[in-house]
Amino acid sequence: MSLATFRGGIHPPGSKFMTENKEIEMLVPKGELVYPMSQHLGAPCVPIVKKGDRVLTGQKIADTDAFVSAPIMSSVSGTVKDIGNRMTISGALETCVIVESDGLFEHGASLLPHRDFRELEPAECVKIIREAGIVGMGGATFPTHVKLSPPPGKKIKWIIVNGAECEPFLSCDNRLMIEHPEPIIGGLEICLHIFPEAEGIIAVENNKPEAIRRLTGELSEHGANIRVAPHDVKYPQGAEKMLILTVTGQEIPPGALPAEVGCLVLNVSTLTHIWHAVTDGTPVLDRVVSVAGDAVASPKNIIAPLGTSVRELVDAAGGFSREPARILSGGPMMGISMRSIDVPIVKGTSGILALSPKYAPTFDESNCIRCGRCITACPMGLWPSELDKAVRLRQYSNFEQNGGMNCIECGSCTYVCPSRRFLTQTCRDGKAGVMAERVKQKGIGAK
Ligand code: SF4
Ligand code: SF4
Repeated sequence: MSLATFRGGIHPPGSKFMTENKEIEMLVPKGELVYPMSQHLGAPCVPIVKKGDRVLTGQKIADTDAFVSAPIMSSVSGTVKDIGNRMTISGALETCVIVESDGLFEHGASLLPHRDFRELEPAECVKIIREAGIVGMGGATFPTHVKLSPPPGKKIKWIIVNGAECEPFLSCDNRLMIEHPEPIIGGLEICLHIFPEAEGIIAVENNKPEAIRRLTGELSEHGANIRVAPHDVKYPQGAEKMLILTVTGQEIPPGALPAEVGCLVLNVSTLTHIWHAVTDGTPVLDRVVSVAGDAVASPKNIIAPLGTSVRELVDAAGGFSREPARILSGGPMMGISMRSIDVPIVKGTSGILALSPKYAPTFDESNCIRCGRCITACPMGLWPSELDKAVRLRQYSNFEQNGGMNCIECGSCTYVCPSRRFLTQTCRDGKAGVMAERVKQKGIGAK
């Protein structure tokens, strides 16, 4: 089995020392809980409750018939205070259900527990995972039941657990692996029950020795078809394509899904939720968030109910120690800048970072000096400076012909560029430009 590495990549400072040794702390929210209708890739949900309704913890409050979507549950008991537009982490206004918590956390039986998942048919497990609202909790937020339903004829040979957590500052996955390895392995066993011919591989960067030790120790109790695969530290190791190449030696063709080469990749938090959904009947109600950065007074890992305000998480971490130059949702490489902290955490919120100018300096762009560093760094084998040029000239067909749609927006090119060119942003713009051209040429809904 190959443990090759992918081409390109970079080695930014990990900066994980702020939170990697901090045990996960629980936060009980004081304020209202806000649930945006789009917490996943795919069709947004529609509220199925109305203002004034009493809701219970775990009760479904929004859903849709669309296959690529995932329902949303109330993470507290209380009263629906409002349904309306609120700002979300991206800064956009979105329809939200707002619940005033009664502080009782009274549970409503949303799913049945199944202590022995082996008594369930694989399709029943997938149905439970859908009903539990599970999505890719590493940040991708692709609905997990869709991932677990590969096209007919595609044989799944490897289920890879993504424990790379290669983004600097973040350690929420690392802490889950250290503190709660059992549900991660249990969730993987459920997935292996769905795909009995597959092998389970837990891929962890070798800068997480305690997580590797805990998972390996836990596996000795199981004896299942699962192994831990430590691998070298390199960014963006946690990107699906890079992880698959490193762990299995398989290269995914451009535009194809991991199932094409017999792989499924699931984040450690996603597997934890799969375990609790199937065995306890608990849907996705909360998540662990790393609240870090040099502008946070006391960085820590916090488990909080979904819908909790980011401000409450920052307060629980001691507030800001200085004026942040930049606040991010997610890591510094692929995270998104936040305009306000009065927005709720959602299923994909792995981190909240508040950074001083030391970690988030502002630069002016200068001209490309044709040094080629961006080409060397790109893990997708692209030519970022040429893509950048095509986008700035609005030559979207040129951008597409040069493989721009394969850009995974990892930020490696921007990181190494001595001219501080906004290469990743222009790639994002280029992808949006290509999609807009397609819609214009073929009509709305063109693929
Ligand atoms: S952001 Fe895109 S172009 Fe830049 S290094 Fe990553 S994959 Fe390559
Ligand atoms: S790294 Fe920057 S300066 Fe060097 S070739 Fe790429 S865009 Fe030009």
